[in-house]
Amino acid sequence: MSELALLGGRPAFEESLASRVAWPPVDDRTAQKLAELYYSRRWSAFDETESEFAEAFAKLHDASHGIFTINGTVTLQCGLGAYGIGPGDEVIVPAVTWYATAMAPHYLGATPVFVDVLPDTLCIDPDKIVAAITERTRAIIPVHLYGSMADMDRIMAIAKAHRLRVIEDCAHMHGGVWNGHGIGSIGDVGSFSFQHSKTMGCADGGMCITSDAEIADRIFRMKHIGYGPGEHPGNIRQPPPRDLKCYNFRATAFTALILHEQLHSLVERLGRYGAAVRYLENRLGQTTNIRFQKPGRRADRQGYYGWNMIFDAPRYEGIPISLIRQALAIEGVPVGVVWDPVYRFILFNLEPNAYRIPEPCTVAERLVPRALWLMHAYLDVDESDLDRIAEAIEKVDAQADALRVHAKAS
Ligand SMILES: *Cc1c(COP(=O)(O)O)cnc(C)c1O
Repeated sequence: MSELALLGGRPAFEESLASRVAWPPVDDRTAQKLAELYYSRRWSAFDETESEFAEAFAKLHDASHGIFTINGTVTLQCGLGAYGIGPGDEVIVPAVTWYATAMAPHYLGATPVFVDVLPDTLCIDPDKIVAAITERTRAIIPVHLYGSMADMDRIMAIAKAHRLRVIEDCAHMHGGVWNGHGIGSIGDVGSFSFQHSKTMGCADGGMCITSDAEIADRIFRMKHIGYGPGEHPGNIRQPPPRDLKCYNFRATAFTALILHEQLHSLVERLGRYGAAVRYLENRLGQTTNIRFQKPGRRADRQGYYGWNMIFDAPRYEGIPISLIRQALAIEGVPVGVVWDPVYRFILFNLEPNAYRIPEPCTVAERLVPRALWLMHAYLDVDESDLDRIAEAIEKVDAQADALRVHAKAS
């Protein structure tokens, strides 16, 4: 094994994966369809491009309705808002997630309540949900994070016992299947993001899925200033319900078209991601001291926003995660740090009463600074590239002592 490139050795990749792997995918067929759409002038959210995509996306996830919007933050807001959740209500969210999960209840005037995650999946801890429930609790937003799914069996049982709504945050889990059910169709509403980096990406976009026709209608009206599907000024079948806060969260046909094209190959791509993860974990499980985020306990088809490594073995004590990240970057393997617990985000800390933390989130606090993740697109490479990714990680593990010395010296 050669020395770490950070310490003067040869890098595993001569040219970093970051400059060789392109995301999002592009192809001539999509370009042709985009040109046709452009000349058709049918660019708006009212045409069939959008409804066709929404229907196909919902169907893949076993839901009967899909409502396409501008991003995966407002989808969470719509999911909660459709059930009338607002001021005075509490919504339970995991401490480890993207800000959106907690901002959605905040925007509605409700209070996000942060609970800890499990050490093996980094997804919300069902026992901590139970401990956090009060008479004000109205909903839970489990997040299916990176390459794992929250324990939907337990979460649905808790929700049923306490009469809570479940809005699944599936921003990382396009195409996932939990115990025979499309992800997002197990809770009351599933929320997806199509932000640029996500497993399906189109710059920005979002989707709510549900099999409740009335909730689907409410969500549609929320995103379309109160109009129902097919309605417009002069053609209103039914006014929006009085209790519903409505906005303009409409997206365009261009993004719907790009995403519909991506959808055709999603399941195949997830298969390649899954095979790459198994290949890497089989090898690195034997050659290193690194832990890997466990997949969903009942995952029939695991989605991947990223592949998550946890460097919490005693061997890594005293080595800042930023240094491990830097060492891997110099080897040509671009990995990211995991988001800090969301309650550190400045928006919430401007308003001390804007959230609640019933118990310290000790697992999140301990593991977030010990985790690094590889974006999904870097899993879509051939076996020789996977071998070099593994080689770079093995170097870090074998030369941990040298890294510690380097950290002390600099
Ligand atoms: C990306 C993401 C969202 C939604 O983000 P948008 O940028 O608004 O689409 C929600 N939850 C999680 C966990 C995410 O990663």
